[in-house]
Amino acid sequence: MHANLGGEPKFMRMAIELATSNVVSGVGGPFGAVIVKNGDVVATGVNLVTGTNDPTAHAEVTAIRRACTALETYELTGCSIYSSCEPCPMCLTAILWARLDTLYFASTAEDAAEAGFDDSHFYEQVALPFSERELPTVNFMRADGLASFNAWRTFAGRVEY
Ligand SMILES: [Zn+2]
Repeated sequence: MHANLGGEPKFMRMAIELATSNVVSGVGGPFGAVIVKNGDVVATGVNLVTGTNDPTAHAEVTAIRRACTALETYELTGCSIYSSCEPCPMCLTAILWARLDTLYFASTAEDAAEAGFDDSHFYEQVALPFSERELPTVNFMRADGLASFNAWRTFAGRVEY
Protein backbone atom coordinates (compact mmCIF):
# COMPACT_ATOMS: atom_id res chain seq x y z
CA MET A 1 0.00 0.00 0.00
CA HIS A 2 1.03 3.60 -0.55
CA ALA A 3 1.23 5.79 2.51
CA ASN A 4 0.92 9.54 2.95
CA LEU A 5 -0.60 10.18 -0.44
CA GLY A 6 -3.63 12.17 0.64
CA GLY A 7 -5.18 14.12 -2.20
CA GLU A 8 -6.11 17.79 -2.18
CA PRO A 9 -9.92 18.11 -2.06
CA LYS A 10 -9.85 21.37 -4.04
CA PHE A 11 -8.35 19.64 -7.06
CA MET A 12 -10.82 16.76 -6.89
CA ARG A 13 -13.67 19.24 -6.58
CA MET A 14 -12.33 20.93 -9.73
CA ALA A 15 -12.25 17.61 -11.60
CA ILE A 16 -15.81 16.79 -10.50
CA GLU A 17 -17.08 20.27 -11.42
CA LEU A 18 -15.49 19.90 -14.88
CA ALA A 19 -17.23 16.54 -15.25
CA THR A 20 -20.59 17.90 -14.18
CA SER A 21 -20.43 21.02 -16.36
CA ASN A 22 -19.40 18.85 -19.32
CA VAL A 23 -22.81 17.18 -19.21
CA VAL A 24 -24.55 20.26 -20.62
CA SER A 25 -21.68 21.21 -22.94
CA GLY A 26 -22.73 18.52 -25.39
CA VAL A 27 -19.16 17.52 -26.28
CA GLY A 28 -18.89 14.31 -24.30
CA GLY A 29 -19.54 12.31 -21.17
CA PRO A 30 -19.51 13.36 -17.51
CA PHE A 31 -15.80 13.07 -16.90
CA GLY A 32 -13.12 15.58 -15.88
CA ALA A 33 -9.44 15.47 -14.98
CA VAL A 34 -6.91 17.87 -13.49
CA ILE A 35 -3.11 17.54 -13.58
CA VAL A 36 -1.22 19.18 -10.74
CA LYS A 37 2.47 19.88 -10.21
CA ASN A 38 3.88 21.39 -7.03
CA GLY A 39 0.43 22.51 -5.93
CA ASP A 40 -0.42 24.24 -9.21
CA VAL A 41 -2.84 23.16 -11.94
CA VAL A 42 -0.85 22.38 -15.08
CA ALA A 43 -3.77 21.32 -17.27
CA THR A 44 -7.38 20.20 -17.19
CA GLY A 45 -9.38 17.97 -19.48
CA VAL A 46 -12.93 16.87 -20.09
CA ASN A 47 -14.37 14.06 -22.16
CA LEU A 48 -14.60 15.24 -25.80
CA VAL A 49 -15.50 11.95 -27.48
CA THR A 50 -18.77 12.87 -29.16
CA GLY A 51 -17.95 16.54 -29.82
CA THR A 52 -14.72 15.75 -31.65
CA ASN A 53 -15.54 12.28 -33.03
CA ASP A 54 -12.52 10.98 -31.13
CA PRO A 55 -13.05 7.82 -29.09
CA THR A 56 -9.69 8.39 -27.39
CA ALA A 57 -10.56 11.90 -26.18
CA HIS A 58 -11.26 10.86 -22.60
CA ALA A 59 -10.76 13.46 -19.87
CA GLU A 60 -7.50 11.94 -18.62
CA VAL A 61 -5.98 11.63 -22.10
CA THR A 62 -7.05 15.18 -22.94
CA ALA A 63 -5.48 16.48 -19.71
CA ILE A 64 -2.27 14.51 -20.31
CA ARG A 65 -1.93 15.90 -23.85
CA ARG A 66 -2.46 19.46 -22.62
CA ALA A 67 -0.07 19.05 -19.67
CA CYS A 68 2.66 17.65 -21.91
CA THR A 69 2.16 20.52 -24.34
CA ALA A 70 2.27 23.08 -21.50
CA LEU A 71 5.40 21.58 -19.94
CA GLU A 72 6.99 20.68 -23.31
CA THR A 73 7.68 17.11 -22.23
CA TYR A 74 6.47 13.59 -22.95
CA GLU A 75 6.76 12.53 -19.30
CA LEU A 76 4.80 13.97 -16.37
CA THR A 77 7.06 12.82 -13.55
CA GLY A 78 6.43 15.08 -10.57
CA CYS A 79 2.77 15.53 -11.49
CA SER A 80 -0.41 14.02 -10.07
CA ILE A 81 -3.72 13.47 -11.84
CA TYR A 82 -7.13 13.97 -10.27
CA SER A 83 -9.88 12.19 -12.19
CA SER A 84 -13.58 12.53 -11.46
CA CYS A 85 -13.89 8.79 -12.09
CA GLU A 86 -11.69 5.72 -11.95
CA PRO A 87 -9.79 5.62 -15.27
CA CYS A 88 -10.65 3.12 -17.98
CA PRO A 89 -7.88 0.74 -19.14
CA MET A 90 -6.83 3.15 -21.91
CA CYS A 91 -6.52 6.09 -19.54
CA LEU A 92 -4.83 4.07 -16.82
CA THR A 93 -2.24 2.97 -19.36
CA ALA A 94 -1.85 6.53 -20.65
CA ILE A 95 -1.23 7.61 -17.04
CA LEU A 96 1.42 4.90 -16.71
CA TRP A 97 3.04 5.89 -20.02
CA ALA A 98 3.08 9.53 -18.90
CA ARG A 99 4.86 8.49 -15.69
CA LEU A 100 2.54 10.46 -13.46
CA ASP A 101 3.45 10.21 -9.77
CA THR A 102 0.00 9.66 -8.31
CA LEU A 103 -3.56 8.94 -9.43
CA TYR A 104 -6.54 10.17 -7.44
CA PHE A 105 -10.08 9.33 -8.48
CA ALA A 106 -13.55 9.96 -7.01
CA SER A 107 -16.27 7.79 -8.60
CA THR A 108 -15.43 4.15 -9.17
CA ALA A 109 -15.67 1.98 -12.29
CA GLU A 110 -18.71 0.41 -10.63
CA ASP A 111 -20.37 3.84 -10.36
CA ALA A 112 -19.57 4.45 -14.04
CA ALA A 113 -21.08 1.10 -15.03
CA GLU A 114 -24.30 2.01 -13.24
CA ALA A 115 -24.42 5.22 -15.30
CA GLY A 116 -23.96 3.26 -18.55
CA PHE A 117 -20.18 3.50 -18.97
CA ASP A 118 -19.12 -0.09 -18.54
CA ASP A 119 -15.38 -0.20 -18.99
CA SER A 120 -15.06 -2.94 -16.38
CA HIS A 121 -15.76 -5.21 -19.36
CA PHE A 122 -12.61 -3.88 -21.04
CA TYR A 123 -10.61 -4.55 -17.90
CA GLU A 124 -11.77 -8.18 -18.07
CA GLN A 125 -10.83 -8.41 -21.75
CA VAL A 126 -7.36 -6.98 -21.21
CA ALA A 127 -6.66 -9.65 -18.62
CA LEU A 128 -7.39 -12.48 -21.09
CA PRO A 129 -4.85 -14.04 -23.49
CA PHE A 130 -5.54 -12.48 -26.92
CA SER A 131 -6.81 -15.83 -28.24
CA GLU A 132 -9.66 -15.66 -25.70
CA ARG A 133 -10.69 -12.03 -26.27
CA GLU A 134 -13.88 -10.99 -28.08
CA LEU A 135 -11.79 -8.95 -30.52
CA PRO A 136 -10.46 -11.31 -33.22
CA THR A 137 -6.70 -10.94 -32.84
CA VAL A 138 -4.12 -12.59 -35.08
CA ASN A 139 -0.36 -12.65 -34.61
CA PHE A 140 1.45 -13.14 -37.93
CA MET A 141 4.57 -12.00 -39.84
CA ARG A 142 6.41 -11.69 -36.53
CA ALA A 143 9.86 -12.13 -38.08
CA ASP A 144 9.18 -9.37 -40.64
CA GLY A 145 8.06 -7.07 -37.85
CA LEU A 146 11.50 -7.26 -36.27
CA ALA A 147 12.86 -5.01 -39.05
CA SER A 148 11.35 -1.98 -37.28
CA PHE A 149 13.07 -2.78 -34.00
CA ASN A 150 16.36 -3.43 -35.75
CA ALA A 151 16.08 0.00 -37.39
CA TRP A 152 15.33 1.56 -33.97
CA ARG A 153 18.29 -0.14 -32.28
CA THR A 154 20.71 1.18 -34.87
CA PHE A 155 19.21 4.70 -35.14
CA ALA A 156 21.67 7.06 -33.44
CA GLY A 157 19.07 9.81 -33.04
CA ARG A 158 16.56 7.80 -31.01
CA VAL A 159 15.02 9.34 -27.91
CA GLU A 160 14.46 6.60 -25.34
CA TYR A 161 11.21 6.71 -23.39
ZN1 LIG B 1 -10.58 6.58 -20.30
